[in-house]
Amino acid sequence: MKLHNPYQHIPALSHQAEVKHFEQAQMLLWNAPLAEQFGLGDDEQKRLLLGQGVKKTTALAYAGHQFGNYVPLLGDGRAHLLGALVDEQGLSWDIQLKGSGATQFSRGGDGLCAIGPAIREFIMSEALAGLGVPTSRCLGVALTGETLMRQQPSAGAIVSRLASSHIRVGSFQFLAAQQETQALQQLVELTIARHYPELAGETGDARLLALFNAVMAKQIELVVQWMRVGFIHGVMNTDNTLVSGETIDYGPCAMINQFDFNRAFSSIDRQGRYAYGNQPQMANWNLARFAETLIDLFAASREQAVEALTNALNQFGDKFNLALKQMWMSKLGLLATDGEQEPLINELLMSMQQQQLDFTNTFAQLTDYCQGKQTGLTQLEADLGPWLEQWQSVVNQHLRQSATLMSKANPQVIPRNHQVEAVIADFEQQGHSDKLAPLLAALKDPYQVQAQHHYLQHPPTTSDEQYQTFCG
Ligand code: AMP
Ligand code: MG
Ligand code: MG
Repeated sequence: MKLHNPYQHIPALSHQAEVKHFEQAQMLLWNAPLAEQFGLGDDEQKRLLLGQGVKKTTALAYAGHQFGNYVPLLGDGRAHLLGALVDEQGLSWDIQLKGSGATQFSRGGDGLCAIGPAIREFIMSEALAGLGVPTSRCLGVALTGETLMRQQPSAGAIVSRLASSHIRVGSFQFLAAQQETQALQQLVELTIARHYPELAGETGDARLLALFNAVMAKQIELVVQWMRVGFIHGVMNTDNTLVSGETIDYGPCAMINQFDFNRAFSSIDRQGRYAYGNQPQMANWNLARFAETLIDLFAASREQAVEALTNALNQFGDKFNLALKQMWMSKLGLLATDGEQEPLINELLMSMQQQQLDFTNTFAQLTDYCQGKQTGLTQLEADLGPWLEQWQSVVNQHLRQSATLMSKANPQVIPRNHQVEAVIADFEQQGHSDKLAPLLAALKDPYQVQAQHHYLQHPPTTSDEQYQTFCG
């Protein structure tokens, strides 16, 4: 399968870089089903996990706001783009190695990735894919055969990931800040060609505005889907925000167990900037940064450009709230004809927050009720009291429709933090884990009740109290 560099015509972004050659490298994980979807055979592993035989690899430049602070030059400091392949529908997919050595963007970093974060990315990206959330995918993990220093000495690893592109809000920011207007226009065209071909007919300033609105719609969809499954990204910096609307950069991410809008796990997110319930505001903020990069491209005056983009951005709140409400309605099996849904939604969320109920299991038990299973009913009655009766009186009018909606919106299984950590610990300590395959199998079909019932159990209620995640 041939690889090409889709960024080659934008030299300000695309820089030649060399993958480090690791003499003792070994294959560790290979995502055969994903590879197969792209017609990639097992014999491609050395090329696609280690870059062996790939002549020209690329490090991309980008800027970004990290926790609100602008950094004019970030870039791939430990990643190499092998190139893009084209699938049967003619869509391009970037293949990028992470942990494959230093580049001109390493800024003193070692260009490496530890085994723990590599395993986390593999599990979490496969989990989100199984849950139906837009995401980059993981083709596999290789061991470099070298030890590197993090909190403790750790085996070095390379993650190979597949994404529909690596065009970040930070890529736009980098070119805009450099006033590389022509390159920026080329990036607009590349973004439209790869992600928004439906905008091909738009011209002039309307094209730019349409692109902004399309990216906003994808970000809204992404964050609503994160919230539906209880995902906390943890580091929603503009350099980690893809304009395609896929999840990328699984550094300090985690899942919510006991429900709390303020839940944040990342060791470096002390203010809770990227807490579960703050993710919509942060997406809005990131979109404002994206809008700023487009201003200079408008043919109209600066004032008119700012006004048009501001008007578009001001619709974020209404659009997000509508999508969010529809999401909660589906999780509760509510129909448009059910009258006022908000009080029912809000009361449940408040009650879950006050009592720190398990997010996944509560919705799974409500789903069970609509499917005629009595399993969790006593627990629900104890937890939710009068609210439950109110909700039942609504869904009892259309139980079958509610069950259909809810069984698609409410997973039975998620990648529980303590289970993911247990797999990571195994890999760190002994280089393999018997727990990985069953966990991945359960996460492949997370809406079905699993035979392996331990995935359905409540995590220990204390398991998240001290839980902290770290950037790779
Ligand atoms: P991240 O936190 O992974 O999104 O990375 C933020 C920035 O730091 C990006 O420019 C990365 O390329 C860079 N970076 C992170 N870890 C390393 C490392 N070990 N060596 C070099 N650069 C790194
Ligand atoms: Mg990043
Ligand atoms: Mg102008």
